[in-house]
Amino acid sequence: YARYNSNSAGIRERTLIAVKPDGVQRRLIGQIIQRFEIRGFQLVGLKMLQVSDELLSQHYMSLCKKSFYPSLLHYMTSGPVVAMVWEGNNVVRSSRMLVGNTNPAEAPPGTIRGDFCIHISRNVIHASDSIEMAQKEIALWFQSSELIEWECCDHGNFYQL
Ligand code: UDP
Repeated sequence: YARYNSNSAGIRERTLIAVKPDGVQRRLIGQIIQRFEIRGFQLVGLKMLQVSDELLSQHYMSLCKKSFYPSLLHYMTSGPVVAMVWEGNNVVRSSRMLVGNTNPAEAPPGTIRGDFCIHISRNVIHASDSIEMAQKEIALWFQSSELIEWECCDHGNFYQL
């Protein structure tokens, strides 16, 4: 990162974003990627995968006692998911704001959930909810060799470098 100065550490923050099976089925991958791209965040990892029960049980470990957990697993394994890692200043918090409330009924228009879905059980996208969770989720979903460190040539349009 030699080209960035000492104030640039924060712009390397990363988060895990996943287009869930309903989002893939509904052909929303492109529109969802566009929301992150147009905001100025940088894509550093991307893949389509059929998620295993094992990965999901680790990913949603904190929810395993919830009544909706079995249907959540069924939903998340019902078809392919598109997993991504996005990078940028404050990307974890900003992504949660781009995505909107877990319950789409509470998500305002302009957010991804507020624009594209109706019910909490089919809310089209996942976004890590803290920097710590983002680090754990990225390590769970991606090999380090699948993450690309690259410099966007127009960084100066988004940051004071
Ligand atoms: N979920 C559900 N019913 C609920 C709560 C959650 O089906 O009552 C699902 C929903 O897909 C949600 C996921 O479980 O996105 C994970 O829940 P969490 O509370 O972690 O919300 P998120 O971080 O995805 O906004």
